Amino acid sequence: MTFDAPLVACLGQPVAENPTGAMQEAAFRALGIDWRYLTIEVPPASLRDAILGVRALGFRGLNLTIPHKVAVIQYLDEVSAEARIIGAVNTVRRDGSRLIGENTDGKGFLRAMRVDAGIDPRGKRIAILGAGGAARAIATELALAGAADLLIVNRSAERATAMVRDLASNTPVSVRYEPWIGQWRVPAGIDLLVNATSIGLFPDVDAMPPVDLTAAAPGTLVADAVFNPPETCLLATARQRGLPVLDGLSMLVYQGVIGFQLWTGQDPPEEVMKQALKQALGISACSAP
Ligand code: NDP
Repeated sequence: MTFDAPLVACLGQPVAENPTGAMQEAAFRALGIDWRYLTIEVPPASLRDAILGVRALGFRGLNLTIPHKVAVIQYLDEVSAEARIIGAVNTVRRDGSRLIGENTDGKGFLRAMRVDAGIDPRGKRIAILGAGGAARAIATELALAGAADLLIVNRSAERATAMVRDLASNTPVSVRYEPWIGQWRVPAGIDLLVNATSIGLFPDVDAMPPVDLTAAAPGTLVADAVFNPPETCLLATARQRGLPVLDGLSMLVYQGVIGFQLWTGQDPPEEVMKQALKQALGISACSAP
């Protein structure tokens, strides 16, 4: 018997309402491994010291959330190629004494698309709403997975043009930007529409991204990165039109699954993680009878 539990932590500010710990701890318990996941508030000015602490205390891994995903890079020993293109790290794994930055957000989306929606991104024409961290992660992984064409639709031109430039110079994808003015009409030739903005995120649950789905071809997959609530107005509208949908909860669970695998080398129970997350977010786990 040993009593020195391996530690993983989520660092952010604010972080108290981040539900990731509930899903990771549920997975540790389900596998019977004595790991702990701590959720720790770290102000930006203390991030350097926090990472020194992570090294000194032998933490096995980290999640980083707002506002540390970019700033943490300077304190790490290595950053994966994907995280470098994205420009942000949401997961750190330890390799001996080295801390290695990864980004599992886009990989989580990709896995949700493949496993839950049954669609491979190869050759697909994709429109992404947004140009923030989630949009960059999703776009980078879709581009590296062989998407044919990316259309970035965003309110502010500055972030979108930087994103398009980074994708064009680091991945083989064909990518362009379209300004988001008023109601954006989804073109008929799109296979996948992703909302990677924060429109619809709790507590603004009635907010709908200004998009018009009437021209979307039957079979166009409509996905949302927003995970709370899982059924956003965008997804409800798409569902009403008979379009297949993919919610942000799947992406969140799978990015956590990938993090778990990176830290422990084990496959976590995905359904246990999903139910723990739903419970933590106050979402009923029970579907209609
Ligand atoms: P950022 O702040 O980095 O980016 C926000 C994006 O939303 C920007 O493109 C911004 O446009 C756009 N936006 C916000 N409000 C509006 C508006 N009213 N009209 C038009 N555009 C708007 O956030 P993140 O990329 O980190 O997160 C985006 C969403 O993704 C959040 O809801 C977050 O919870 C979710 N997320 C989900 C994950 C999951 O696993 N399911 C993982 C990570 C994030 P502009 O550039 O013009 O300001």
